[in-house]
Amino acid sequence: MDLTYTPEDLAFRKQVRAWLEGNLPRTPLRTLDERKAWHRKLYEAGYLGMGWPKEYGGGGARPMEQAIVADEMAQVNAPAPTNGLGLGIVGPTVVVHGNEWQKKRYLQKILTAEEMWCQLYSEPNSGSDLASLRTRAEDKGDHFLVNGQKIWTSGGKVADWGLLLARTDPAVAKHKGISCFLLYLHQPGVDVRPLKQITGSSEFCEVFMTNARVEKENLIGKLGEGWGIANLTLGYERGGRSLARITSYASQYHRLVAAARKLKRNGRPLVDSPVVRQKLGRIWAELEVERYNALRVLTQLERGDHPGAGGSLTKLSYSEFEKRFNELAQEILGPYGQLTDGAPPELGLEIDTAVGEQGTWAYAFLWSRAGTIYSGSSEIQKNVIGERILGLPKEARADRAGAAR
Ligand SMILES: Cc1cc2nc3c(=O)[nH]c(=O)nc-3n(C[C@H](O)[C@H](O)[C@H](O)COP(=O)(O)OP(=O)(O)OC[C@H]3O[C@@H](n4cnc5c(N)ncnc54)[C@H](O)[C@@H]3O)c2cc1C
Repeated sequence: MDLTYTPEDLAFRKQVRAWLEGNLPRTPLRTLDERKAWHRKLYEAGYLGMGWPKEYGGGGARPMEQAIVADEMAQVNAPAPTNGLGLGIVGPTVVVHGNEWQKKRYLQKILTAEEMWCQLYSEPNSGSDLASLRTRAEDKGDHFLVNGQKIWTSGGKVADWGLLLARTDPAVAKHKGISCFLLYLHQPGVDVRPLKQITGSSEFCEVFMTNARVEKENLIGKLGEGWGIANLTLGYERGGRSLARITSYASQYHRLVAAARKLKRNGRPLVDSPVVRQKLGRIWAELEVERYNALRVLTQLERGDHPGAGGSLTKLSYSEFEKRFNELAQEILGPYGQLTDGAPPELGLEIDTAVGEQGTWAYAFLWSRAGTIYSGSSEIQKNVIGERILGLPKEARADRAGAAR
């Protein structure tokens, strides 16, 4: 594992920091248009799609440079770019599996947020067992006709396009009959319905497809290759912004310690309690372990290796950590931790978008449940680790989605 930065990396970090100082939005971004404008500004500065090929609008940058930008953004709690699924999943999938026409047609518009994307994989009865999905895409000669239902579609209500997995051959083994498509959402056969979550917001949607149309040119890869492509995209989802995530947790941690100094129990600051100190110390030690995990992933990426099943270790580790961290935060903050409109300003307990989109500890606590479910639940990650890293016997159902999720 490489723990040092080269002089070039340090110079690049300085440059990014200076850019952020001059360009960071001064007020919270409230509308989609404001978020798109910020997204475009980041892109024009060269800080989005940094690793994508230059000929399609990317920057051809090294993983370390990408990590530095994400890390510096986390340091100042910069708002995330919009079109996260386009940047994180759809774009990389098109780069690897798309043909020349698809790359030219779609990649640049993801980078500029002109076209917003979502991921249409999960169904009401196919989450972990993704290979059992039932949405059908029938070959009609010059196009495919799609019928079925998706669920848990993040960002579905603002998306223009979706990366779709659908069954094209029901006669073969279930993971061999799936294909991958690009589905245009603004057409008569597609109905996107928002779902209200425990946090109060509606990032998720259900998507119903009734005789929806996909042109032949929007098949990604070959017919029946969808399962392999899904494995790849989920790998991207798990790799993620590992270092930046740690920086966000660290900033939250310092806020929590500051709160523990201000809040009193039995007339004394909470931070004086040996039990509270012990718990804060333990969580800091865990955070350091997460930091080294992130640096290990980054070192692998720099060397051109894909973390593979090792990505499951990182994902399991950080998502379970996030839950423990937010549970400790609730314990320390007591009733203040449940305020959904933020805590009284004199306590200095506000948090910002880096961890909880709505800026409260309550939201961050509720949202922390999500990480252990999306992109493959913790149980599925443990199956992957058991089978592919520890070499334990495989689960009985060889084609179940643990192979991908
Ligand atoms: C925040 C968030 C965003 C998401 N965004 C998207 C999106 O944009 N697009 C999309 O397509 N999907 C999305 N999802 C859906 C996500 O991929 C699924 O929720 C996930 O794969 C789990 O599937 P499920 O909800 O059907 O649960 P199930 O698969 O029904 O699992 C229920 C429980 O059983 C356990 N379990 C299941 N199988 C096994 C097994 N073989 N061994 C041991 N335990 C098992 C699971 O761990 C879980 O605890 C999102 C989910 C979340 C939480």
